[in-house]
Formats: sequence, structure tokens, C-alpha cells
Amino acid sequence: MRFRLFAGLVLTVASGVLPAQEDEVTVQSTEVVPGLYMLDGADGQFAGGNMGLLVGPDGVVLIDDGLTTISASLLAAIADISGEPVDFLINTHVHADHTGSNAALHTHGATIIAHDNIRKRLLQLTGDEAVAAAALPQITFSDTTTFHLNGHTAHVFHVQNAHTDGDAVIHFTDLNVIHSGDVFFNKLFPFIDFNSGGSVQGYLAAQDKIIAIANDDTIIIPGHGALATKADLVLARNMLADSYARVKKLVNAGLSEDEIVARNPLADYDDGWSWVFISAESMTRSLAKSLMHQVTSD
Ligand SMILES: [Zn+2]
Repeated sequence: MRFRLFAGLVLTVASGVLPAQEDEVTVQSTEVVPGLYMLDGADGQFAGGNMGLLVGPDGVVLIDDGLTTISASLLAAIADISGEPVDFLINTHVHADHTGSNAALHTHGATIIAHDNIRKRLLQLTGDEAVAAAALPQITFSDTTTFHLNGHTAHVFHVQNAHTDGDAVIHFTDLNVIHSGDVFFNKLFPFIDFNSGGSVQGYLAAQDKIIAIANDDTIIIPGHGALATKADLVLARNMLADSYARVKKLVNAGLSEDEIVARNPLADYDDGWSWVFISAESMTRSLAKSLMHQVTSD
């Protein structure tokens, strides 16, 4: 089946990998610390990016909202946990697997907060990618914003040109929990959206920034993959830096993209990091393209 996961990137995945009926995805919750949950697809079903949910007497805050097709299941899961609708929805970036349920959440009362560039990019979508007015953030920020709710502080900060040009990281400072959005894929090759302002240097810088504010007890909700620790993030950061250096060496030696792929420079990372959406080969091609400045608009 053809499946649009990220804006500008249509991926073909084997049938059976994703449920035949996407609207049957069930959203499950995992308590990260008291009052803060991670939401994702039950039984390995793909619901989109990992979501975060803060509940308490002052209000309900949701971070990201998965694919459009999970809206009903997501609202049901939130009602189960909080008994109250979402007051504030934070988008970590523009991709449809993180903003797909924006309109549904806003229709149910949520105010959407996101980086300036997310609103800009959502407004640029046309055709069958165009989003309803209800899906647009009502409040945007350029650098940081901070939530003070339920006795907790959530520092939301922008990281420049990382996964996209509109990424935000959410740091629950007193709870020692970080939602990284897609600047961290745990034990999965990362997708860097060069066509939406992402860059390897920015991606690594964003990861370094998170590493700098984390300690050994920090729990990280990654954009994709299982709940993580600082050590997991360090592993991912070093893997990407090393992969980039390996491909760069071959680009500098004058090899073409296909010649680089034939050398299979990321072979030893294939086992631990390849997944249904990004193989060692596609990671190699992506890094080679970015180094050769051959990234096209599609
Ligand atoms: Zn993404």
C-alpha cells in the first residue's frame, strides 16, 4: 500500500505491516510519571508519532496528535485518562503523522500552539494535503514558550533546522521528562526532511541540546520508537554523526550516489536501526543527496 507518512515523501510499505483498516488503530497509553503519559498505537499499530499527555486540575495538555485516521481513538483514550477534553495542543512539527488530528482536537475545544513555521507550512499545503482552518495553530511562537499547569513547568523550545524548520522540544523540567518530537528516533534511522528546512548539522545540534539538559534519570519520549533514556539518545546521536562522516568521506572521494550505495557504508548499522520506513540504503541515499546538494523539491 502507498502511505503518506511525511509531507513530501510517499512511501510504499508491504501490506500487512500496517493494519488494512487504518481507522481501526487503537491508541494506548503508558504512564511515564504520575500525571504524564505517552500515547501510541496499541499492538505495534502505527498511529503516527509518539504523543505526550499531561493531565491535572488546571488543564489537559497534549503533545502531537498522530494521523488523521486515529482521531476518534485518540479522543477516546484521552477521555479514559482525564475525563476532560484537551485544553492545549502542542505540535512538535508540521508532519501529518504528528498533526493529523489537529482539526478534530480543535473542534473539541483545544487551542493549538506551534512554532511560526508550522502554521506557515500548513497554510502552503494544497490539493488533498490542504488542511482545514481548524487544523491551523491559533498561537505561534518563534523561540520558546512555557506552560505552568498542574503544578508543573513545561519549557517548549525551538531547535533550528533540525528535522524540519519548525521543530519544538518540550522539557518538563520538574518531572525530568522530555518530549523530543522527531529530532530523536529511538533505535530507528532518523528521517531528516531536507525539503522542509531540516539539516544534519541542525539535527545533531538539537540532539546535543537535549543531551545537555538531560541526566541519567531523564525519561525521553522520542518522536518514534520506545520510551528512551539519555544513553539511548547519545547512541542515536553518535550513530548519525558517524553515518554522516562515512558518507561524507565517499562523497568527497568523488563517488556518485549509486557508487556510494554499492559500498554499503552503513552495513553494520542495518541490524539495529533499519525499519519499515528507512533502510540503511535509503539513509545512505538521503545523506549522500544532502551532501551533494541534490535535494529536489520532491
Ligand atoms: Zn516528522
